Amino acid sequence: MSKRQLAMVMDLNKCIGCQTCTVACKTQWTNRNGREYMYWNNVETYPGTGYPKNWMELGGGFDAAGDLQPGVIPNLEADYGVPWDYNYESLMTDSADHRHFQPHVSPTWGPNWDEDQGAGVFPVDNYFFYLPRICNHCTNPGCLSACPRDAIFKREQDGVVLVDLDRCQGYRYCIAGCPYKKIYFNPKISKSEKCILCFPRIEQGLPPACAQQCVGRIRFVGFLDDEESQVYKLVHKYKVAIGLRPDYGTQPNVYYVPPTESPAKFDAEGRIIEGSTRLPIEELEKLFGPEVHHAIKTLKAEMKKRKETGVSELMDILIAYQHSDMFRLDNHYYQEVAKEQKRTPLAPVDTRYIAGKFTKTGGHH
Ligand code: SF4
Ligand code: SF4
Repeated sequence: MSKRQLAMVMDLNKCIGCQTCTVACKTQWTNRNGREYMYWNNVETYPGTGYPKNWMELGGGFDAAGDLQPGVIPNLEADYGVPWDYNYESLMTDSADHRHFQPHVSPTWGPNWDEDQGAGVFPVDNYFFYLPRICNHCTNPGCLSACPRDAIFKREQDGVVLVDLDRCQGYRYCIAGCPYKKIYFNPKISKSEKCILCFPRIEQGLPPACAQQCVGRIRFVGFLDDEESQVYKLVHKYKVAIGLRPDYGTQPNVYYVPPTESPAKFDAEGRIIEGSTRLPIEELEKLFGPEVHHAIKTLKAEMKKRKETGVSELMDILIAYQHSDMFRLDNHYYQEVAKEQKRTPLAPVDTRYIAGKFTKTGGHH
């Protein structure tokens, strides 16, 4: 366990599935050098197959006794989807008869292949919501436990989970061990890579790119022991933000405010069935465990209180007025850490992460 833990809260009531977060992450970290197929941040439709395909059925994580469970390594073509590009150049050179815009492979699967399909029958009782996912920077990471090379480490100062690329030999046990399938194999360098929670930004007091760019303003970032942070209030004070699949036993540090309201169902004549709700509570229990009942009860009670009295700290937090309140990152703290570690204060680096030849030179592969 690390000394302090950074955490992110995502309010699922506000995600509009715009994928701005996905693009912010991809353009910053994964559009090159063997990472093309990776989505360190993805937003999937739930219910749905997710990314990679059926990740919840691929094993990993821990059982109730704390033993690491066997897991499956997803396949590029069948489970992630081969990333494709388009024939921009031949569009300029081909004769007019042969000109058409097309991908360079015939894709058979890809992220969000089933976007917006959800479950139920349109228009009677169909439903879905968006589920944005990054690495959970778990307190008990399955990826770390599975690594026989001690190549995955959790930073003391903030609990960020990173891969030491010098030690990693590309065995991929980590991919099997992560029940969220949020660590990926880079075939170009034969190493595993994953979300780094934008630590070079964090150390400068800036939130991760996905959180900063989020159009729906659904993401809060802060330290779990900072009682002034909105993350602390959502997770510990009001207990309305819960980790995804707590039954996997990794103690995730990305928390979700569950979808609280869903539209009523229609009867065969298209009339509203009063009092009905499309989103089955069993789905939310599957994702967030039994605590979801308490969370939804609190959210509904605070919504009512806000309507009746005009006052609710919880609703004010979830409205997300100011980035400066939503993101509480203390760069003075990181300056102190840098001093302790005898580094130049605020060098935007993690010493162990950049020590290896695979990270230091940037563009050699
Ligand atoms: S989500 Fe997966 S990759 Fe991230 S820390 Fe947890 S086990 Fe490791
Ligand atoms: S940017 Fe925000 S609202 Fe848009 S998909 Fe990502 S998490 Fe959802």
